[in-house]
Amino acid sequence: MNKNNNLCEITVSDDSVLMNAHTFAEDLARHFHFSLGRDKVQESHLYLYNALAITVRDHLVSQWRKTRMARAGQRRVAYMSLEFLMGRTLNNAILNLDLDDTVRAALEGYCCDLEDVEQAEHDAGLGNGGLGRLAACFLDSCASLALPVIGYGIRYEYGMFNQEIKNGQQVEHPDNWLRNGNPWEIAAPEKAIRIKFFGHVDVITKKDGQQYRQWNNTHDVLAVPYDMPIPGYQNGIVNTLRLWKSEATDEFDLDEFNAGSYTESVARKNLAEQITMVLYPNDSSENGKELRLRQQYFLSSASLQDTINLYVESHGKNFDKFVALNSYQLNDTHPSIAVAELMRILMDDYSIPWDDAWAITSQTMAYTNHTLLPEALEKWPVRLFENLLPRILEIIYEINARFLQQVAVCWPGDSQKQSALSLIEEGHEPQVRMAHLAIVGSYSVNGVAALHTELLKAGLFNDFYQLWPEKFNNKTNGVTPRRWLSHCNRSLSALISSKIGRNWVADFAEVSQLSEFANNKAFQKKWRDSKQHNKAALVDLVEEATGVTFDVNMMFDVQVKRIHEYKRQLLNIMHVIGLYDRIRKGDTADITPRCVLIGGKAAPGYVMAKQIIKLINNVADTINLDPKVAKYLKVAFIPNYNVSAMEIICPATDLSEQISTAGKEASGTGNMKFMMNGALTIGTLDGANIEIRDAVAPDNFFLFGAEAHEIPGIRENYQPNEIIANSPTLSAVMQLLESGHFNLFEPGIYDSIIESIRDPGDMWLTAYDFDSYFQAQRRVDECYKDQQLWTQKSILNTAASGVFSSDHTIRQYRDEIWKL
Ligand SMILES: *Cc1c(COP(=O)(O)O)cnc(C)c1O
Repeated sequence: MNKNNNLCEITVSDDSVLMNAHTFAEDLARHFHFSLGRDKVQESHLYLYNALAITVRDHLVSQWRKTRMARAGQRRVAYMSLEFLMGRTLNNAILNLDLDDTVRAALEGYCCDLEDVEQAEHDAGLGNGGLGRLAACFLDSCASLALPVIGYGIRYEYGMFNQEIKNGQQVEHPDNWLRNGNPWEIAAPEKAIRIKFFGHVDVITKKDGQQYRQWNNTHDVLAVPYDMPIPGYQNGIVNTLRLWKSEATDEFDLDEFNAGSYTESVARKNLAEQITMVLYPNDSSENGKELRLRQQYFLSSASLQDTINLYVESHGKNFDKFVALNSYQLNDTHPSIAVAELMRILMDDYSIPWDDAWAITSQTMAYTNHTLLPEALEKWPVRLFENLLPRILEIIYEINARFLQQVAVCWPGDSQKQSALSLIEEGHEPQVRMAHLAIVGSYSVNGVAALHTELLKAGLFNDFYQLWPEKFNNKTNGVTPRRWLSHCNRSLSALISSKIGRNWVADFAEVSQLSEFANNKAFQKKWRDSKQHNKAALVDLVEEATGVTFDVNMMFDVQVKRIHEYKRQLLNIMHVIGLYDRIRKGDTADITPRCVLIGGKAAPGYVMAKQIIKLINNVADTINLDPKVAKYLKVAFIPNYNVSAMEIICPATDLSEQISTAGKEASGTGNMKFMMNGALTIGTLDGANIEIRDAVAPDNFFLFGAEAHEIPGIRENYQPNEIIANSPTLSAVMQLLESGHFNLFEPGIYDSIIESIRDPGDMWLTAYDFDSYFQAQRRVDECYKDQQLWTQKSILNTAASGVFSSDHTIRQYRDEIWKL
């Protein structure tokens, strides 16, 4: 024991000495044989994958240390998100470290392809869909732009469930992604942070008569950090994603312990570990479960304490520089309780008076809104807070009281404004409105596409916009061109680089140079060859997953995303039914043969979404069994859509389906991945589709459907039955659905879907947009017949996708919100 605490400091002065002593292949062999103790390459490639991951990680760790040291004392941003949909790490690390040739050469000694070894890695599916994937793309861009941004999230033991399709229906299986260990994470149990729950608030009077409040008798939980490296693109930077795992403290309930219930007392520790056990699988809706609120507070408190500890280490308890050195980006309202928690820490732990604490909080918090759907707006019962987070509720009440005074100044005597804007929704069961807390406590509120931000300002948040117009701004989403083009589409990447060099991977605006070659016949031919190559890979995936054999000579028409009524997978399958009806009737003259692929997960409790999955599967079965139809139309539902599946799907897609009811899709990012990979879009004027169409020019986009501003008028007198009666195609579709053609042995299972289409209250206006959609699809058919024209448009789509790089988006966050 070293009694003087005089620990020997080990400094690694020059990592390259340690690293270069061996070749990559030698390091790989050493890790395989010694670190992991393996002799043979087994069929699963699991150990070879692990050895490769540790070897690559060695390279990351030295850059990671250097990045950390260079950042000391700089202004930093904490990106707080309940979700990070990372997918695989190995492939991305190899690309960003420029290790591809090295790794492939080293693997030759083991007689296997990098692609096979990569398959052994489980996706890190710590998110539901677009919101979580956005966080992952942002981390890649922040590292690639060398920005000091740290991601804070939760290390869920179980990520997004695995979806199986059984008898056409979704079955959920737990995603035990950590079963084989995670070579990418580095735990730091010694840096664990205490998080308080339950207990009560005591008012303490100091000697000078001053009162302060103490949150006592709490049941504490530990937050243990697990760090994942986030490498920038070939720039020597490695940022951090810090994920928190909940663990029990070492304390026992003494009464219980002394009463002899030692084992029960130990067993109760499980409760603490439940907090980070599982990701809630709801996309765009909240289920109000207490455990979810615990997750939100756990993440917010741990991350804030972590950033404050770092500040205090170098600045002591003087917070004068805190605002200059820190900013927090809240990914949706999920971590918005951080507003109240930061106030608590500053006041209760650092004795900072309210006004100063509020100045710090409201100048460091920034909030990104992701949805206008009412069911996704988070509200938590006050009663839940009273029990679980009593001190936080007091602070929320105080923030609200002071805020409502401001409202009264702006709208004197207007009690309606008071209740509309209040952080507390009154009623039988009073609720805390998390979006209001986030807006009041933030210096920036942003939407995620131009239309979305306009709708926020004009509708949902209009009162707040009137109060604080300067807070509101737009940041259109983006996706990283490293994963979503360079890595996932090697053939197209090579072709692009052969024309414009390889700098586009770092500076994606350069893809605009491709437009020069859009009419070049030889280039078009190579562009088509690349697409055919990618389609062959998707054929294999679809065949293996569904048994359906796609044909690379047909058009690949794809809609993959979470299953939700507003995204209108129903409209897509109704078009398929309409095509099927024509083909059966011999009306095939104008039809362009197509393979329709649909995929996505439904929230386990979302009954209508699950029925839509069942309908798609039954329609697919009926169509695929009909030999007369086979040469015109094939349909498949691909199970378990996730990041790794998308990496194969988007490079192979000809037509991208982005067909949400206008005004409902905040941005969409799937649309951007497809565009980058040369797909043409059929879509409504919704979310980022509008900006995609503007960027590529209207000629190169298949537009249909009602516009957002028309929709309130349409709903006023919506008569879907009349629309159906007046449309021969739609009537034929409804006839097939209503005759039970797709559910001969399962009578009645589609009744509620049919009713929803015929319902004058149909929120999603499916019948209204059907004819317009069907006609747009006929324009698609016609265009696809002219392969030169189609290819030209395909090249122009990739060429115009520069602004949808998340690098572009992050530069705007950097300059306009974070001021880094
Ligand atoms: C990009 C992506 C999404 C988001 O898709 P949208 O079409 O924008 O809803 C969802 N899930 C995965 C796996 C993705 O890669």
